[in-house]
Amino acid sequence: KLYNQLQDLKGNIRVYCRVRPLFGQPNSAGSVGSIEEGSISMIIPSKYGKEGRKTFNFNRVFGPTATQAEVFADMQPLIRSVLDGYNVCIFAYGQTGSGKTHTMSGPDDLSEETVGVNYRALRDLFLLSQQRKDTVAYDIGVQVLEIYNDQVRDLLATDEIRNSSQNGINVPDATLVPVSSTSDALNLMDLGHKNRAVSATAMNDRSSRSHSCLTVHVQGRDLTAGSHLRGTMHLVDLAGSERVDKSEVTGDRLKEAQHINKSLAALGDVISSLANKQAHVPYRNSRLTQLLQDSLGGQAKTLMFVHIRPEPHALGENLSTLKFAERVS
Ligand code: ADP
Ligand code: MG
Repeated sequence: KLYNQLQDLKGNIRVYCRVRPLFGQPNSAGSVGSIEEGSISMIIPSKYGKEGRKTFNFNRVFGPTATQAEVFADMQPLIRSVLDGYNVCIFAYGQTGSGKTHTMSGPDDLSEETVGVNYRALRDLFLLSQQRKDTVAYDIGVQVLEIYNDQVRDLLATDEIRNSSQNGINVPDATLVPVSSTSDALNLMDLGHKNRAVSATAMNDRSSRSHSCLTVHVQGRDLTAGSHLRGTMHLVDLAGSERVDKSEVTGDRLKEAQHINKSLAALGDVISSLANKQAHVPYRNSRLTQLLQDSLGGQAKTLMFVHIRPEPHALGENLSTLKFAERVS
């Protein structure tokens, strides 16, 4: 309820920020000056434009000590709205090493406390659908996709990794697996993860150069009224937003970087034109925005979750991230 009221005031786009702790110093936000509930401020050196303290505002900010449970609690109403038939997109944006995967999936050593949004979201959807079982019958299914170099890969295709990018995007073509428990969903996420690793060939850390998307499809049938509803949620761990130095990379690496830049810019263009209520929304400029078109705009709800690194050397990229966040809010 509260979430929907806020949305009425602000449109359907929210922007959150999370600042990762310094390695080995779990309480320190390093070069990020001060962190408030709705803003962060930093000292900007002259090399990055106007010198001095600058404050950036968000719907919500999480500092280095925020737990996975606290982060999820704030997103929970949005996630739950999928069971009421809303389409939702949650994006993790930021430079490599800023904590996108930590937020969405969790760290390598997963535990009850450290699991990320993806797992918590599914667990919560199952819980809530169970609570409603006398009034609504829900079917829940998941897809796991990856977009690499503007091509979509179906990470749940078990025989071979199907490439559905030939004739544009056709998500219904991608494997949609029905799930009825959190462990079902977890197994599929693991499978997706493995397939992603398999397709990574010789390249190390391919994950930071592709977008990965867990899509949850919900269908509900109201047992008294007989009516149907449909909701879709996309949980997207975006490719690292850092700019590569064009003088330093060539070939495949340059091509990857160009695809990443282009698709993140296209995503920014789409969200900012929605935020500014522009008549034309340029969905067609990338596979990513084409893929998510039905879940961006209209009644759909978007959460852009930007991630900040605390190290001083990360400042330049942090500022690009914060500019991106300003553009889409
Ligand atoms: P990205 O996906 O943006 O490249 P990662 O999620 O892999 O970044 O984070 C980089 C490292 O920092 C990982 O070892 C991760 O576990 C750790 N990390 C990220 N965010 C946090 C956090 N909020 N608290 C503790 N460790 C974190
Ligand atoms: Mg990552």
